[in-house]
Amino acid sequence: MYQYSGSCNGFVNTLRGQTVTMTGKVVVSGEHVKRENLAKIIKTKGGRFKNDLTGQISLLVHGDLSGQVVTNMKIQFSDKLLDVINQDRRQHHVCVVSSAGFSELLNGGTAKCLHDVVADRASAV
Ligand SMILES: [Zn+2]
Repeated sequence: MYQYSGSCNGFVNTLRGQTVTMTGKVVVSGEHVKRENLAKIIKTKGGRFKNDLTGQISLLVHGDLSGQVVTNMKIQFSDKLLDVINQDRRQHHVCVVSSAGFSELLNGGTAKCLHDVVADRASAV
Protein backbone atom coordinates (compact mmCIF):
# COMPACT_ATOMS: atom_id res chain seq x y z
CA MET A 1 0.00 0.00 0.00
CA TYR A 2 1.34 3.35 -1.04
CA GLN A 3 1.55 5.86 1.79
CA TYR A 4 2.19 9.50 1.26
CA SER A 5 3.36 11.49 4.29
CA GLY A 6 4.09 14.86 2.68
CA SER A 7 5.45 17.32 5.20
CA CYS A 8 4.06 15.36 8.15
CA ASN A 9 6.71 14.41 10.71
CA GLY A 10 4.36 12.14 12.63
CA PHE A 11 2.99 14.84 14.90
CA VAL A 12 0.35 17.53 14.68
CA ASN A 13 1.38 20.70 16.49
CA THR A 14 -1.46 23.12 15.93
CA LEU A 15 -4.99 23.61 14.66
CA ARG A 16 -4.02 26.95 13.14
CA GLY A 17 -4.41 26.87 9.38
CA GLN A 18 -5.85 23.34 9.45
CA THR A 19 -9.01 22.32 7.65
CA VAL A 20 -10.57 19.77 9.94
CA THR A 21 -13.23 17.11 9.67
CA MET A 22 -14.24 14.35 12.06
CA THR A 23 -15.51 10.80 12.16
CA GLY A 24 -17.24 9.11 15.07
CA LYS A 25 -17.98 10.58 18.47
CA VAL A 26 -15.39 13.09 19.56
CA VAL A 27 -14.89 13.43 23.29
CA VAL A 28 -13.07 16.42 24.74
CA SER A 29 -12.21 16.41 28.43
CA GLY A 30 -14.65 13.56 29.03
CA GLU A 31 -17.55 15.17 27.22
CA HIS A 32 -19.04 14.38 23.84
CA VAL A 33 -18.78 17.50 21.70
CA LYS A 34 -21.31 18.15 18.96
CA ARG A 35 -20.11 19.01 15.48
CA GLU A 36 -21.46 22.59 15.65
CA ASN A 37 -19.54 23.24 18.85
CA LEU A 38 -16.47 21.57 17.48
CA ALA A 39 -16.62 23.87 14.45
CA LYS A 40 -16.70 26.91 16.77
CA ILE A 41 -13.82 25.64 18.90
CA ILE A 42 -11.69 24.95 15.83
CA LYS A 43 -12.42 28.43 14.51
CA THR A 44 -11.21 30.04 17.74
CA LYS A 45 -7.96 28.08 17.27
CA GLY A 46 -7.44 29.44 13.77
CA GLY A 47 -8.68 26.44 11.81
CA ARG A 48 -11.73 25.59 9.72
CA PHE A 49 -14.25 22.78 10.06
CA LYS A 50 -15.77 20.93 7.09
CA ASN A 51 -18.30 18.12 7.08
CA ASP A 52 -16.79 16.17 4.21
CA LEU A 53 -13.36 14.79 3.64
CA THR A 54 -12.10 16.35 0.43
CA GLY A 55 -8.73 17.37 -0.94
CA GLN A 56 -8.95 20.47 1.25
CA ILE A 57 -8.89 18.55 4.50
CA SER A 58 -5.60 18.49 6.37
CA LEU A 59 -6.73 16.87 9.62
CA LEU A 60 -9.23 14.18 10.56
CA VAL A 61 -10.30 13.82 14.19
CA HIS A 62 -10.94 10.12 14.69
CA GLY A 63 -13.50 9.74 17.44
CA ASP A 64 -15.14 6.60 18.78
CA LEU A 65 -16.81 4.69 15.97
CA SER A 66 -18.46 2.02 18.11
CA GLY A 67 -22.22 1.94 17.83
CA GLN A 68 -22.18 3.81 14.56
CA VAL A 69 -22.67 2.63 11.03
CA VAL A 70 -19.23 1.88 9.71
CA THR A 71 -18.15 0.70 6.29
CA ASN A 72 -16.20 -2.27 7.52
CA MET A 73 -17.47 -3.67 10.81
CA LYS A 74 -14.43 -5.84 11.39
CA ILE A 75 -11.95 -3.03 11.67
CA GLN A 76 -14.42 -0.23 12.33
CA PHE A 77 -13.69 1.87 9.33
CA SER A 78 -15.80 4.82 8.38
CA ASP A 79 -16.03 6.24 4.89
CA LYS A 80 -13.87 9.11 6.05
CA LEU A 81 -11.05 6.80 7.10
CA LEU A 82 -11.19 5.17 3.68
CA ASP A 83 -11.13 8.65 2.16
CA VAL A 84 -7.85 9.27 3.99
CA ILE A 85 -6.37 6.33 2.08
CA ASN A 86 -7.83 7.59 -1.18
CA GLN A 87 -6.24 10.99 -0.60
CA ASP A 88 -2.87 9.22 -0.17
CA ARG A 89 -3.15 8.00 -3.72
CA ARG A 90 -3.50 11.62 -4.78
CA GLN A 91 -0.37 12.47 -2.81
CA HIS A 92 -2.37 14.34 -0.23
CA HIS A 93 -1.57 13.39 3.35
CA VAL A 94 -4.42 13.84 5.81
CA CYS A 95 -3.24 13.77 9.41
CA VAL A 96 -5.40 11.70 11.75
CA VAL A 97 -5.66 12.36 15.48
CA SER A 98 -7.72 10.67 18.20
CA SER A 99 -10.14 12.43 20.54
CA ALA A 100 -7.34 12.49 23.11
CA GLY A 101 -4.97 13.97 20.57
CA PHE A 102 -7.51 16.59 19.64
CA SER A 103 -7.92 17.52 23.32
CA GLU A 104 -4.14 17.91 23.51
CA LEU A 105 -4.20 20.28 20.54
CA LEU A 106 -6.94 22.36 22.15
CA ASN A 107 -4.72 22.66 25.22
CA GLY A 108 -1.83 23.86 23.10
CA GLY A 109 -0.10 20.50 23.09
CA THR A 110 1.03 18.10 20.38
CA ALA A 111 -0.89 15.11 19.02
CA LYS A 112 0.51 12.01 17.41
CA CYS A 113 -0.55 11.57 13.78
CA LEU A 114 -2.31 8.21 13.48
CA HIS A 115 -2.31 8.25 9.70
CA ASP A 116 0.06 5.31 9.34
CA VAL A 117 -1.90 3.25 11.86
CA VAL A 118 -5.03 3.82 9.80
CA ALA A 119 -3.23 3.00 6.55
CA ASP A 120 -1.76 -0.18 8.02
CA ARG A 121 -5.15 -1.36 9.21
CA ALA A 122 -6.66 -0.61 5.81
CA SER A 123 -4.00 -2.57 3.99
CA ALA A 124 -4.63 -5.55 6.26
CA VAL A 125 -8.23 -5.87 5.02
ZN1 LIG B 1 0.19 13.24 9.45
